[in-house]
Amino acid sequence: MTPEDDYTAQPFVPKRGRSLTALRDAAAGCRGCPLHRDATQTVFGAGKASARVMLVGEQPGDQEDRQGRPFVGPAGKLLDRALAEAGIDPADAYVTNAVKHFKFTQAEPRKRRIHKAPTLREATACGPWLAAELALVEPELIVVLGATAGKALLGSSFRVTQVRGTVLEEEIHGRPERLVPTVHPSAVLRADDREGAYRGLVSDLEVAAGALT
Ligand code: SF4
Repeated sequence: MTPEDDYTAQPFVPKRGRSLTALRDAAAGCRGCPLHRDATQTVFGAGKASARVMLVGEQPGDQEDRQGRPFVGPAGKLLDRALAEAGIDPADAYVTNAVKHFKFTQAEPRKRRIHKAPTLREATACGPWLAAELALVEPELIVVLGATAGKALLGSSFRVTQVRGTVLEEEIHGRPERLVPTVHPSAVLRADDREGAYRGLVSDLEVAAGALT
C-alpha cells in the first residue's frame, strides 16, 4: 500500500466506456486506500443515471457492507420516509456515499462492528468515484448528508449547522453544482429529540424539493 498521502482511487476508475455498471464493476476492485481490507465489499451508488437528485452520505454502514447496497439499513429507511414526505420520490434519487467501503472498529472478531468516521484523507482518496458518478448522472441538485460528505465535497471548513437547508452554488470536481446540505439520517436516529431532528431533516429536504421544481 502506498503512503497515506498517495491514497487515491484514480488508477482504478475506467477512463473509457463509462456507464454506472462499468463504474460499479471497477469500484469492486478498488484498492485505492486501506479501507477495502476489512470491509466485506465495495458499496457503490445506486439509482438511475437519469436521476434528478443525488444524495451523498458518509460511508456504508454494517447492513450496507453486508448487502452491498447503500442506505438499506435503518438510516436508509428513515431517509426514504423523509424524502417522500418532502415531495421527492426516492425512486428518482441516486444515492451514494463519499467513501465506498465500511470503516469500523471491532473489539473481538464476533463482537458488533462499530462505525468509525472516515478521515478527510480517505474521503479525498475515494473522491474520483464520486466525481465519476456526478459526471454520469449530472444531477440537477446534490443533497449533502452530514459533515463528512460536506467536507469531502466542499472542503474542511464545511459546517453543516451553518448551511443546512440552504441552496449553495459551488464548483464540485470541475462542474458547477447546486447543493442543499442537511444532517445525516443516522444523526436523526441518535438524537435525543428524534421527532424534532426528523422534522428538521424533512424541512431541509423540502428546500431541496423546491429547488428541483
Ligand atoms: S474507500 Fe474508496 S478509495 Fe478506499 S479502497 Fe474503498 S473504494 Fe477505493
